[in-house]
Amino acid sequence: MASEVHINDALCKGCDICVEFCPKEVFEVSGEVGPRGYFVPLVARPKDCSACMLCEHLCPELAITVIVQKKRKKAAEKA
Ligand code: SF4
Ligand code: SF4
Repeated sequence: MASEVHINDALCKGCDICVEFCPKEVFEVSGEVGPRGYFVPLVARPKDCSACMLCEHLCPELAITVIVQKKRKKAAEKA
């Protein structure tokens, strides 16, 4: 299952909760300063994301969006 992980740097306050708690270590602390003046984590390993959605739930600023891309099954496989 592939997924995309986005951080809205206009909302992020650089608390690094996502860095600490992602079980797949998708995020890394970065030196990138967002518009609010905080260090916004880097989505360093998006391919490792298991789409557990923990980061979305834990982010206090609702700055993270995880988009799950499910593969479509062919009709023949479903039958
Ligand atoms: S948990 Fe949210 S606010 Fe905290 S660093 Fe991660 S994206 Fe930013
Ligand atoms: S959805 Fe889970 S695995 Fe993916 S980045 Fe968020 S916490 Fe990490």
